[in-house]
Amino acid sequence: MATIIDGKAFASNLRQFIHAQVAQIKEKHGKIPGLATILVGEDPASQVYVRSKAKQTTEVGMASFKYALDAGTSEKELLKLLADLNANDEIHGILVQLPLPRHINAEKVINAIDPRKDVDGFHVSNVGLLGSGQKAMLPCTPLGCMMMLRDHLGSLRGKNALVVGRSNIVGKPMAQMLLADDCTVTIAHRYTEGLADHVKRADILVVAVGRPEMIPAEWIKPGAAVIDVGINRIERGGQIRLVGDVDFASAKEVAGAITPVPGGVGPMTIACLLFNTLTAFCRTMGLPEPVDMGFSLVEGVGIVQELKRAS
Ligand code: NAD
Repeated sequence: MATIIDGKAFASNLRQFIHAQVAQIKEKHGKIPGLATILVGEDPASQVYVRSKAKQTTEVGMASFKYALDAGTSEKELLKLLADLNANDEIHGILVQLPLPRHINAEKVINAIDPRKDVDGFHVSNVGLLGSGQKAMLPCTPLGCMMMLRDHLGSLRGKNALVVGRSNIVGKPMAQMLLADDCTVTIAHRYTEGLADHVKRADILVVAVGRPEMIPAEWIKPGAAVIDVGINRIERGGQIRLVGDVDFASAKEVAGAITPVPGGVGPMTIACLLFNTLTAFCRTMGLPEPVDMGFSLVEGVGIVQELKRAS
């Protein structure tokens, strides 16, 4: 029976750590980190995400700056707002909620954010820094996955890791981080042949596809660490339920550790956004970073110990 990796509890610990760090910084330097969130349009799911991000920002003692722009906002207006926020020294992190309306070029917008304030880690400079093993701002979802993996396994060196899904926001950066932590990494995607055989070899399995329960327990290597990023809404027994990309009920009998959906990766994503905002603030102010998540930096030491030591 697998250890269930409790992302909710992990995220709550991480937020407490951030809260304490922000309080110390405020007392010592009289300044607090600030996060700007920008939402264009009225997509209900995006509204929920942005509200939740802003709420958690203030709960850890940071300043939250909210920009809710109407759906007709032009690309030019959005770029002008970003230029203003880039120049505003009360703002250390900028998040543009995706997806953007079709008339706005998302790549252009993301690349207009000052890379030092790019707390989502999507700017092409941060992608390049991560890919070349330099200090980057790391995308929140894979960062949360890495924290949980390091906490559970200690060193990841030499493990066979399989990432299923190759999106820019999850799959690709996840694979880069695992590689930087000395795993032997395979990336699978919709055209991969013999997926079951790849899964069977994986000591670490990260799935980010968006297909309900597509990975059955029979494919999973006994004792593997399984991180399920997928969030899928399905109807079961007359009720709408959230499930992951892994068949959790049977997989937990085979895996060594597994994240549930909900309550696994999801809560860690926003906590990592706050972590990145704190990191961005520390880098701007020339302060020591809260916890240096540069890779292969403290071998075999879980993030929880790193957090304890840093606090
Ligand atoms: P995406 O749609 O951008 O990418 C999906 C990937 O899956 C693609 O690379 C595609 O090649 C691959 N794929 C599709 N069918 C496949 C198959 N049969 N076999 C193998 N690979 C296949 O998705 P995304 O944005 O990376 O998100 C993936 C999932 O993760 C979604 O369910 C999303 O809701 C969830 N997600 C969760 C969080 C979180 O915070 N927990 C964050 C981001 C995304």
